[in-house]
Amino acid sequence: MMTDDSSFSRPAPAIDCAGLTRRFDTATALDRVDVTLAGGQFSVLLGPSGCGKSTLLRLIAGLDWPTEGGIRIGGRDVSGLPPVDRELSMVFQSYALFPHLDVASNILFGLSVRRVGKAEQASRLDKVARMMGLETLLARKPNELSGGQQQRVALARAVISERPICLMDEPLSNLDAKLRAEMRVELREIQQRLGLTVVYVTHDQVEAMTMADRIVVMNAGRVEQVGTPREIYATPASAFVARFIGTPPMNLVPLADLSAAGALPGLEPGVLTRLGSDGLAGLRPEDMTRSATGLPVRFVSEEYLGADRLVTVRAGASTLILRLPAAAEPLPESFHLTWPAGALHLFDAVTGRQLAGLTPEPAAGEGSLVATS
Ligand code: ATP
Repeated sequence: MMTDDSSFSRPAPAIDCAGLTRRFDTATALDRVDVTLAGGQFSVLLGPSGCGKSTLLRLIAGLDWPTEGGIRIGGRDVSGLPPVDRELSMVFQSYALFPHLDVASNILFGLSVRRVGKAEQASRLDKVARMMGLETLLARKPNELSGGQQQRVALARAVISERPICLMDEPLSNLDAKLRAEMRVELREIQQRLGLTVVYVTHDQVEAMTMADRIVVMNAGRVEQVGTPREIYATPASAFVARFIGTPPMNLVPLADLSAAGALPGLEPGVLTRLGSDGLAGLRPEDMTRSATGLPVRFVSEEYLGADRLVTVRAGASTLILRLPAAAEPLPESFHLTWPAGALHLFDAVTGRQLAGLTPEPAAGEGSLVATS
């Protein structure tokens, strides 16, 4: 559906937020947020409801003002500027299309307001309509379009503005699962082709993992971690991030509890003594496998998922969920678990921060199991 005729000649700017704080009477929505959203990249603000994602997006847009801190776009301080002077476009969850205008007029609305010449409008409309696969729909009214088509019109309206930054607040949440998956691919394609700086708000980890160059995980008005989807998954900086990403999420149990149950593969001698009861152990369901030695567990139940099964086991006083191949034989009442070096994550039980340097990095090429006893 896409043609290859559009890109910006100048690099899209980065967005720098420094010490950004937004207090309301009843809540601190953002608490000293320092984050850089790189130019030309797809950045996703991810976190649970109420963590401050929309507030951060609205401050970047200029729709709201920080209590403290500042924002730079392309190095320029925009803190005092209204939205129209910030070189950005926006796409919201509600498509905000004018019901009485046809698709073409909806797409062109911003350009008409800005008094862009008719010839220029026509040529840009032609290009954007082709790019977004909307050529045959230009004369229709919004109520004659599917949800996905309406969202494409909303997106076309942002793209036609030719502004290098596009801010999106849960733009796909009104679409059904199949359309959402298709639109994810389309959005990503458009962002890459135009080299846009996109800031995309969602609470959906799958959206974040599939689309983002960088994910900014937020919690209670603060940034927990910034990283590529792979970094966020493989090395969560906190127990909060570990719990938020992955389905089912990482198992998080008291380290002391787990070690009381038996051997912990890959745990360096001395770590347990150093951490005492203050450590939290994290293990991803898919990282654990059955083995001859390792952590002894008791079978509790299993859930068949087709390609694999989710197995619930008890290890001492803790419960763990494992993801095992479904084709395997029935599990015995008790067995042992092991995992690759580096798969055991350790977090501070009080602050939730990752405890660095306590687990060995997996050696290159090492994938096998290290069972200690
Ligand atoms: P959601 O995914 O539910 O939209 P969010 O992460 O986008 O959540 P925000 O909308 O940024 O969260 O809200 C952050 C916090 O600030 C919440 O506690 C919210 O209740 C509060 N808040 C946001 N806007 C206002 C406002 N105008 N007045 C008072 N409190 C507000």
